[in-house]
Amino acid sequence: MPRLELLEWANRYGLVAGITTRPLSLGLWSDEPVGQVIGRWRAFRSAFGDRFPSLVLAHQVHGTDVHWHDPLPEGWLILDGSDGHATAERGVLLTVTVADCIPIYLAVPQKGAIALVHAGWRGAADGILEQCVELLKWRGLAKASDIVMHCGIGICGSCYEVGSEVAVRFGMSGTVQLDLRAMLARQARALGINDITISPWCSAEGRDRFYSHRASQGRDGRMVAYLGRPLG
Ligand SMILES: [Zn+2]
Repeated sequence: MPRLELLEWANRYGLVAGITTRPLSLGLWSDEPVGQVIGRWRAFRSAFGDRFPSLVLAHQVHGTDVHWHDPLPEGWLILDGSDGHATAERGVLLTVTVADCIPIYLAVPQKGAIALVHAGWRGAADGILEQCVELLKWRGLAKASDIVMHCGIGICGSCYEVGSEVAVRFGMSGTVQLDLRAMLARQARALGINDITISPWCSAEGRDRFYSHRASQGRDGRMVAYLGRPLG
């Protein structure tokens, strides 16, 4: 399965974290034949062997809901209207689909809690990161300074020009180049997170490997970002 893994998180924290790449398109709410898309998801899941008996995904709505997952039955869980997932369970693979929006990986290594969020400008402006951090602090029994964060592959500032109606949500005016990952990192630092890394890859510039909603005028597929603590 074509993918890029966050090897540093595997080595340091024992977590499976990464993102699929071309040519594996995993958009579920697309116009593609459902049999083909589900077949690819099954291939995606089987690539992890028996380390993750449960897999969660959701129909994403650019909202701020982050769902906490207690122990799950084996199989698939598909939620409605959620842009983030968190758990402290082993064997649960969290996933979000992206194509320019930023996958945010969060973990509390000492407590085993993890979270994965899909953040575009709307979610970032509406505070999905803060929602997620509050959830991790509460359910993961953590302090913000215990949390580590990685902003994954998404669109960079030079490729993401937005109009004034978006800029104003981030305290700017006029047409601006919005660097979503820099903005999210700034939010994270304000929330008390110190350990933050940012992927150097831009989805719109690296279209030989990545899908980009903007660079394709909405025609591209979706990549799957994933994060989980495998069964021991
Ligand atoms: Zn770019």
